[in-house]
Amino acid sequence: MRDGEQTPGVSLTPEEKVWIARNLDALGVDVIEAGSAITSRGERDGIKAVVKEGLRAEICSFARALKPDIDYAIECGVDSVHLVTSVSDLHIREKLKKDRTAVTQMTVDAVEYAKKHGLVVELSGEDASRADLDYLESLYRAGIDAGADRLCFCDTVGVLDPERTYEIFSRLTASLKVPISIHCHNDFGLATANTIAALRAGAAQAHVTVNGVGERAGNTALEEVAVVLKSLYGVETRIVMANIYPTSKLVSRLMGVPVGLNKSLVGENAFMHESGIHTHGLLANTATYEPITPETIGRKRQIVLGKHAGRTSVVMALREIGLEATEPQVDEITRQVKDLGDRGKHVTDADLMSIADSVLGIKSQARIKLIDCTVLSGNRATPTASVKITIDGQEVVESGVGLGPVDAALNALRRSLSGVADVKLDEYRVEAITGGTDAIVEVWVKMSRDGRVISARGAGPDIIMASVLAFVEGINRLVQENNGIKARSQP
Ligand code: MN
Repeated sequence: MRDGEQTPGVSLTPEEKVWIARNLDALGVDVIEAGSAITSRGERDGIKAVVKEGLRAEICSFARALKPDIDYAIECGVDSVHLVTSVSDLHIREKLKKDRTAVTQMTVDAVEYAKKHGLVVELSGEDASRADLDYLESLYRAGIDAGADRLCFCDTVGVLDPERTYEIFSRLTASLKVPISIHCHNDFGLATANTIAALRAGAAQAHVTVNGVGERAGNTALEEVAVVLKSLYGVETRIVMANIYPTSKLVSRLMGVPVGLNKSLVGENAFMHESGIHTHGLLANTATYEPITPETIGRKRQIVLGKHAGRTSVVMALREIGLEATEPQVDEITRQVKDLGDRGKHVTDADLMSIADSVLGIKSQARIKLIDCTVLSGNRATPTASVKITIDGQEVVESGVGLGPVDAALNALRRSLSGVADVKLDEYRVEAITGGTDAIVEVWVKMSRDGRVISARGAGPDIIMASVLAFVEGINRLVQENNGIKARSQP
């Protein structure tokens, strides 16, 4: 959590730290580095709150090899310190303005001080990958003699490669008899490969972050190491695999750091299949185009449908949402999907569900019906609209104003549905099908509710009515199958 929070622009509140810590604990990690106690009062509040949770995992604070850093860690009540000292000549000279002897001495003093106060000490060499290995080893030895429980080798700027990592760890683990951790950064995209190489050469622990968050290009991704160890090396960890994806989503949301679409395992596209030859293989056996099943890490397969959709991908996508259809029904669903795809639409699960529901005859009656819509606008009037709708047969009348007539009408609709079906309009697009002022216009809207996204369409010669119809159609689809509509008496 500490290095993850060093992602530019990220700062977690104590409550957010607690949420993440609980999830990391449930995920099965052994140590949670909850923060760096010296940073600020807020940071200490966060670390203390995590300590108070009484989690199974060891709770750790980052600390430089300085007494005040350790004192603040002690104040927070953590189990251990990740005690970091610069070990490359570059860092010793430029950052600390000291020499090797002085650094060794301050490190030994810090380890002794932390041990005297009952902390577990993991002594960490910062920029170790650019340090002189003989000096590093002598410093580690001095640290062990002073009482360090574990060591850590940091590839602070991500310049290791798997071969060198293997060599270094073979040497260190043969000569130093305490557990050694590997801490990698992903500047060259090798963080996971280097971490695995270190583990193969005897590293006992790996420092990782969920989604690979962290400074610059980030740290080694937890999910990658856990899945690679299990799937490629047959090594079991204590990580609860099915918690990986939910934890990834939580961390992304609380940190405000989106996960790249093509990020391995947890990116949106990682288990998404576009229509075509692959879906044919997948229909026969999902292993044809997937290294592991998405369920392994707690997520679901997604089949993307669009204008290229074939019958096979429709059958596959229907199966993913738990539906079966006869051949003529599949033909009809495919036709409607292509039709939507032709309009440049990415056909979502909710779109498919709604098309399938109507073709398979499971579609329930529209719950919201538009009875009347009147709009007043002009160069001196504030655009004003009144709407009359029925919700499950019960009449509701509302009015609204807006920047223009469409805005006013949609605002009136929103008000009539407020507390009943709160939906968000994400996208609004108008297309003229024919030329001239008597053209038929087509309105496409993208709407969402509780994370579900659908697109809906309305058409007609009146742009306001087409917009209102698209909006009503969208709402009906969003409240359809999940009983999402509340009785109006309950706000
Ligand atoms: Mn780091």
